[in-house]
Amino acid sequence: MSGVRSHQIDALRERFRGTLITPEDSSYEDCRKVWNGIFDKCPALIARCISTGDVIQAVNFARENGLLVAVRGGGHNSAGKATCDHGIMIDLSLMRRVHVDRERQLARVDGGALLGDVDSETQLHGLAVPAGIVSHTGLGGLALGGGFGWISRKYGLTVDNLVSAEVVTADGALLTASQDENQDLFWGIRGGGGNFGIVTSFELRCAEIGTEVFAGVIAKKFEHAEQYIRFHQEYVRTLPDEMTVWMVIRKAPPLPFLAKEVHGQTVILIPFVWLGDQAEGERLIKPIRNAAESHGAFSGMTPWSSWQAGFDGLVAHGARNYWKSHYLKELSSDCIAQITAFARTLPSDECEIFIPHMEGAPSRIAGDATAFAHRTPPFVLNIHTRWQDPADDQRCLGWVKAFHRATEPFAQGVYVNFLSDEGAARVRDAYTEEVWDRLVQLKNRYDPKNLFSLNQNIAPTVP
Ligand SMILES: Cc1cc2nc3c(=O)[nH]c(=O)nc-3n(C[C@H](O)[C@H](O)[C@H](O)COP(=O)(O)OP(=O)(O)OC[C@H]3O[C@@H](n4cnc5c(N)ncnc54)[C@H](O)[C@@H]3O)c2cc1C
Repeated sequence: MSGVRSHQIDALRERFRGTLITPEDSSYEDCRKVWNGIFDKCPALIARCISTGDVIQAVNFARENGLLVAVRGGGHNSAGKATCDHGIMIDLSLMRRVHVDRERQLARVDGGALLGDVDSETQLHGLAVPAGIVSHTGLGGLALGGGFGWISRKYGLTVDNLVSAEVVTADGALLTASQDENQDLFWGIRGGGGNFGIVTSFELRCAEIGTEVFAGVIAKKFEHAEQYIRFHQEYVRTLPDEMTVWMVIRKAPPLPFLAKEVHGQTVILIPFVWLGDQAEGERLIKPIRNAAESHGAFSGMTPWSSWQAGFDGLVAHGARNYWKSHYLKELSSDCIAQITAFARTLPSDECEIFIPHMEGAPSRIAGDATAFAHRTPPFVLNIHTRWQDPADDQRCLGWVKAFHRATEPFAQGVYVNFLSDEGAARVRDAYTEEVWDRLVQLKNRYDPKNLFSLNQNIAPTVP
C-alpha cells in the first residue's frame, strides 16, 4: 500500500470510533465511489468518521503521515474532489444528523448530511433551508461554495443562512466560526469551499415555507426556442422573489404529462416554484404558458420534499458527467443564438443546458460580505453532458468545451461549485480580485501547508 502502512492504520484504529477501510475490505469498492462515474480513484485509506473526534483523528493522522487528503461530503462534486489516489479519503457520509430548533428556526446539520436529510427534518415543522435542487447532493460541499435552489431568490443562498459552523482546521483544532467567533474564518467558509478545514456541523437559519408549494414544469417546443428565450429572459426578471422560473434545454425525459412521441425530442423545460397563494402563482405563470407553443405542462400544490426529490432520477449516481459553466451578464440575441445552435447538437440524451435565474435576495448582499463574490449576474449557464459509455468521452467533452468557448463573450465569472478541473486561473474567476486576496490571506493563516488541497484550491503563498 502506498503512502500509509498497516501498523500506522492499526495505531489509528485504537483511537478511531468509525470505520477504517483499506483496499482489502469488501466494502472498499462501494465506499470509494463518488457521484461522477468518470472518477475511478483508489485511496489507500477511507476513514469513515462518525464524530467530530474521528475527524480530528483523521486530520492529525493525514498531516503526521504526509498523506494527500480528500474530504467526502455528499460526493457530488462534478470535479471528483472528494476522492484521490493513494491518499486518505476523510469520509463524512456517516455523519448525517439534523436537529431542528423549531422555536429559533435553526437547523443543526452534520457535515456529511444530504439535502434530503435536511428537508425531511425541517419539513416536520414546515421549515426549509435554502439549498439545492437534488436531494442526494451533500449539504457540506454545496454550503461551503454558496448553495442556491428554488427558494434562494426569496431567502438567500445557503451561505447567507449560515449562522455558525464547527470547523476542524489543518492543525487538528476545533474552532467555531460565526459572526462573533473567528469572524475571518466565518467569512471564508461562506464561499471559499473546503479550503480552510472540515466542517463537522453547520447551524443554518430556516425559512417558514410550509409543507407545500405551487410548482410545475412547462415544456416548450424547441422550434420556437429563440422567440421563447427572448421573452423568458425579460419576463422572469420582472417577477417577485417568491417566484423562481428556470430553463432547461434537453431531450425530453419520459415525463408523464408529455405524449410518448415527444420523449427524446429536444424541448425547453420551464420548471417553476411559487411561494404563495396558488391563484396568484397561476396568474404570474400564465404569460409563460402563452409565450410560445407548448408540448404540455403540469402544475399544482406539491409537497416540498417530493418536489425537492422530483429530479433526482435524472442525475442518479454513477453515470459519466462533465460540465462547464459561467454566469451570464445577459441573455442577448447573440448569446441565445449560440445556445440554440449548440442545443441542436446535444451529444447524448441526458445532456442538460441549465439556465437558472439568480437575481433576488442574494444580489442585495454586498459582493465582499462573504467569500461568495458574484452576486449580481442575472443568469447562470451550466452546460452539463452526461453519458454512460466511455467511448463517448471525447465527443461529449468536445461539445461542452466548444459551447463554453462560444458563450465566453457573454460571461462574467463562474460559480465555484460548478467548476470542473479547469486549472488555477479558472478558480480565480469564481471570485473578485479583492475577495481572492482575502481568501489567500486566510489560507496562509489556517492551512499554510495546503493540507486541504483537493478542492477548487486557493494555494497558500507562505514559503
Ligand atoms: C446532481 C447535482 C445537482 C446539483 N445541484 C445544485 C444546486 O441545486 N445548487 C447548488 O448550489 N449546487 C448544486 N450542485 C453543485 C454542488 O453544490 C457541488 O457539486 C458540491 O460540491 C456538492 O457537495 P458534496 O458535499 O455533495 O460534494 P463532495 O464531492 O463530497 O465535496 C465537494 C467539495 O467540498 C468539500 N467538502 C464537502 N463537505 C465538506 C465539509 N463538511 N467540510 C469541508 N469540506 C467539505 C470536499 O472536500 C470537496 O472539495 C449540484 C451538483 C450535482 C452533481
